[in-house]
Amino acid sequence: MNKPVQAIDTNSVMFITKRPEVIMVEGKGSWITDNNGKRYLDFLQGWAVNCLGHSNPGMIAALNTQAKKLINPSPAFYNEPMIGLSNLLTANSCFDKVFFANSGAEANEGAIKLARKWGQLNKNGAFEIITFDHSFHGRTLATMSASGKPGWDTMFAPQVAGFPKADLNDLDSVKKLVTDKTVAVMVEPVQGEGGVIPTTQEFMRELRKFTKENNILLIADEVQAGCGRTGTLFAYEHYGIEPDIMTLGKGIGGGVPLAALMATNAVACFVPGDQGGTYNGNALMTAVGISVIEQLLAPGFLASVKAKGQLLQSELLKLSAEFNLEGERGEGLLRALMLGKDTGGKLVELARERNPEGLLINSPRPNLLRFMPALNVSDDEIRQMANMLRELLKQTV
Ligand SMILES: *Cc1c(COP(=O)(O)O)cnc(C)c1O
Repeated sequence: MNKPVQAIDTNSVMFITKRPEVIMVEGKGSWITDNNGKRYLDFLQGWAVNCLGHSNPGMIAALNTQAKKLINPSPAFYNEPMIGLSNLLTANSCFDKVFFANSGAEANEGAIKLARKWGQLNKNGAFEIITFDHSFHGRTLATMSASGKPGWDTMFAPQVAGFPKADLNDLDSVKKLVTDKTVAVMVEPVQGEGGVIPTTQEFMRELRKFTKENNILLIADEVQAGCGRTGTLFAYEHYGIEPDIMTLGKGIGGGVPLAALMATNAVACFVPGDQGGTYNGNALMTAVGISVIEQLLAPGFLASVKAKGQLLQSELLKLSAEFNLEGERGEGLLRALMLGKDTGGKLVELARERNPEGLLINSPRPNLLRFMPALNVSDDEIRQMANMLRELLKQTV
């Protein structure tokens, strides 16, 4: 049984969000344990970050081996894992060049700068990047400005200019925003924070065709949807298209701070002085990235993500039918259950507080729940999650 709850003093931690009064102390696979010894089935995984679950042995080995050898020779030098991971990513994508960053927002900042630079060189200084309503690209000033989150345009005014917003899956709304200042369109193949909204096949294909015909770059923000999350190594593969620029984050590091900006040769136009950063491409994080990507590329792994995605989908559809909810949506192991009413926040709390074992899920919009388990979650854990949720839905519906 659980030990008595320990009091914790959190006064020195800057307040940025309401957190439950527990401390997370260790994790293994799909489970995480708090300071009271309570276990939680983790379908958050550090916000879709721990793609191989907690304490992945391959990642631990990569960290240990590289830490003993070389952590950071500075970005002024090449290091072995930096080159190794660049090669691995370019060999398995349509891109030719990689720049490593430490967070998704930083990778997206790089993508924005690269597109603007390309516009200076090739399109008379065109700089506008069309983004989408309800999109999420990060929390720096430029990426907040690029994001379509309601309220973010005035939060830290003035915004960074040059990010007109179109409607997802509506090519006409993109066309209406195009001017001679337009340099790129930036899109999440599946809007994650916006509530797990996949772009349609038709939209992505037509958007690629339209941008190509009009000398406009296509930037895929795959910080959440990339790295196996949707059942293919990269989400753009679902559409049979090739973007000009792609950003990766979250899953690429499996839990450590690592992100990437990728571009084709035609677009990779930075010159010395344009881009950099103290930690970028450091050996310790890129060594972990190699372990992560190699595990995603192991024979059968991505096929198993697809199969687990289908199992999660069918479990969610069962719940939807049983409780008269509004279905589910998503791609691979990035899915949402549509509740039909604003009970998401309450369910997230009840799930965490349930005993003896808690369940970690989240609710990016009040009328839905989002699921982003480890990509190696077991079938049994998916069913356990659904059963826990079934119990909670009985209480709340
Ligand atoms: C999480 C996320 C980001 C921001 O990544 P950080 O590592 O939090 O800076 C950017 N784009 C998308 C699509 C994301 O889901």
